[in-house]
Amino acid sequence: MIGAVDAARGTLSAAAVKCQSKASAQVRSYTLRRSGILQKCKLSPPSTLPSGSDCTGDPVTAARLATLRAAAAKNITAACQGSALAHARFGPPCTAASSGASLAECLLTMADAAGDRTISAEFSNTGFCGDSPQTVETRIDGLLAQMTLPEKIAQMAGSGPVGAAWRTPGVSRLNVPGLGMIDGARGVGVGGGTATCFPVAMARAATWDPDLEQQVGDVIGTETRAKGASVILAPVLNNLRHPRWGRAQEGYGEDTFLIGEMGVQFVRGAQKHVIANPKHFAANSIENTRFTVNVTIDERTLREVYLAHFQKAVQLGRAASLMSAYNQVNGAYCAENTHLLHDIVKGDWSFQGFVESDWIAGTRSTVPSATAGLDIEMPFANYYGQPLSDAVAAGQVSEATIDAAVRRILRAQLCFRLDSDPPHPDPTQVETPAHTDLALQVARESIVLLKNNAAALPLDRSTTHSVVVVGELAALANLGDHGSSRVIPSSAVAPLDGILARAGTVSVTYQPTVADNAALAAADAVVVVAGLTFNDEGEGQITIGDRKSLALPGDQDQLIASVAALNPRTVVVLEGSGALLMPWKDQVAAILMAWYPGEKGGTAIADVLFGDVTPSGKLPATFPRAEQDLPPFDNTSSAVTYGYYHGYRYLDRNGVAPLFPFGFGLSYTTFQYTNLRITPTTLSPEGWVHVSADVTNSGTVAGDEVAQLYIGYQGSSVDRAVNDLKGFTRVHVEPGQTETAAFDVRAADLAFWDTSSSSWKIEPITYTVSVGSSSRDLPLTGSFTVTP
Ligand code: BGC
Repeated sequence: MIGAVDAARGTLSAAAVKCQSKASAQVRSYTLRRSGILQKCKLSPPSTLPSGSDCTGDPVTAARLATLRAAAAKNITAACQGSALAHARFGPPCTAASSGASLAECLLTMADAAGDRTISAEFSNTGFCGDSPQTVETRIDGLLAQMTLPEKIAQMAGSGPVGAAWRTPGVSRLNVPGLGMIDGARGVGVGGGTATCFPVAMARAATWDPDLEQQVGDVIGTETRAKGASVILAPVLNNLRHPRWGRAQEGYGEDTFLIGEMGVQFVRGAQKHVIANPKHFAANSIENTRFTVNVTIDERTLREVYLAHFQKAVQLGRAASLMSAYNQVNGAYCAENTHLLHDIVKGDWSFQGFVESDWIAGTRSTVPSATAGLDIEMPFANYYGQPLSDAVAAGQVSEATIDAAVRRILRAQLCFRLDSDPPHPDPTQVETPAHTDLALQVARESIVLLKNNAAALPLDRSTTHSVVVVGELAALANLGDHGSSRVIPSSAVAPLDGILARAGTVSVTYQPTVADNAALAAADAVVVVAGLTFNDEGEGQITIGDRKSLALPGDQDQLIASVAALNPRTVVVLEGSGALLMPWKDQVAAILMAWYPGEKGGTAIADVLFGDVTPSGKLPATFPRAEQDLPPFDNTSSAVTYGYYHGYRYLDRNGVAPLFPFGFGLSYTTFQYTNLRITPTTLSPEGWVHVSADVTNSGTVAGDEVAQLYIGYQGSSVDRAVNDLKGFTRVHVEPGQTETAAFDVRAADLAFWDTSSSSWKIEPITYTVSVGSSSRDLPLTGSFTVTP
């Protein structure tokens, strides 16, 4: 970092030298004083520090740091003006600062990052207890000393549902409150009564907006707490290995990087209020055989493709719990899988939270589960409880194993202050206007414009006088699966209601099926709403399970084709979890993918149709031309093998064109990408590279663009994907304006799992950087090299 300040001096003007020296001195003294302030707080955290936060969450510390930074910035800015700044030399990424203030910002940001690395090496990350873990561990020691063995064993199994939540018992004489768990993935589950129903996670992934996802997590966490529960059984971090997976809608799509970025932010948002519970660990991507299927995966595929995002949720998100999956991985059920729970999660990742099983069929044994590291059997004791007591008595499970599990269960409760500040039902915190407004904002950002011929959309109210809405789904608020992720809002807007409310002077009529050909032919535009419902896809066993095919169910293909034959301005709005085959694609004018858009979905769809909102969503999963272009989906066999490739990486590798690629989405405006900058172009394995590109809005309306960065590997010693998503950012650009899309990529994030050394390996090779608007539209390319 200091190297950025101390770059080669050469022959410089006195003013330039003064700028460099002053900046250097300021950065050094700022770094030292900042570390001092943080160290002081970390050694003795204030009792008011919110649970889970580090010392930067302490208002007194934060204020001192802000004052310090402002003073350093002022001094650097004062010394580095005009020609002094122009001639001074600083290393990347502060090479070409446009003003003294931006130079100061760049240098101090680097100083913060370097300081944080030093501090975290000194105070190893304590996870979700933030900076006050020691007090909690001491209290746990005291509690364990007072608890009887039966009391301890009781903590390790659910005690059934009480009110809205699935409970674990606690120990009332010791003020151990126990846990209260509630679903789910798109809002607080139906067990808790009505709640804000967000667009499904797949839709939220289509926003490519992790900050927004943190807000969603925050609201779902608030509502979970307001239902009296302390654990939200979300997020779902399973990969969409194949779009027929019944729970596709509950996850964040096909790509580990995107899943990780969204999942971390959900966890951070939710854990401001309650314990988050990433699930289902791991490799749970088939429904119909989910209770039994054995998934064979090689270690590299497991670590890189199926676990990397769980690792982020644990290590960056600091998730305080995990749910094990029903299925087997490499011959062992997930709840008794020593490699997954003991070696990887609790070993390699230093996870400090608890693991509970998926419900009922999720626990399969007593001794293997307890010794592998399953801390809680849910939702009640079947293999734990008395059988676990018997196993301890028989010496098959040690008391140390019981203590270790109970310590994790108590740690989560104490770190989240469930003893001193337990959640209480509070209906005023549920479905507030702010919460439902957020559901609307997410739905608006999630809609993906897949096709727009001859500017068929938006429907300009001044020139579009009549619209016919067609399709039974138009009159349905289509919220998604009726399994454990079901949320019942107190009201929900169907697409037709949204269109009618937003139509203004446009005359809107409705035909559930094609009934009046003349009206369809005469209309200025026809909007067909088609897609999937909970009758076509959902959770296995308790609802419909996996999709039977990628085709639209029933006669919807025919319906769309017949409307398109009557009216050239036919707009198709699709709903569902994801990829659909579209035999009518070339016959219709426009296509929108609206997913299961949540309780405000109809409004968001209308906003996009009429151009009140410019679409900006991008596909979080590939839409293939045909199912045979994907890896096989076998939901009948008792054993399957997951390979390294699926989704866009599979199609890229096979040179197969998708119907719509991963990352794809149009706008009502157009964006041009220019001026790729990569600094530095040579870095060490500990380093990171800063990439930026200019995004120009070359159309006539304002819009958001999700710029994406993909990495390719030149001369890798192992088989690598053609491209891996490694960065994305959403930028808002006014017409005619240019904004910078910036990405930071750490060399460590380019590592592969080396099976021979059982470790991540960062290869000293050249990495190709491609930037653009989707995985198949990457106009800017460059490269950088990592040194040995
Ligand atoms: C699902 C979980 C859910 C649990 C409790 C299980 O069947 O797989 O995702 O959290 O039920 O409802």
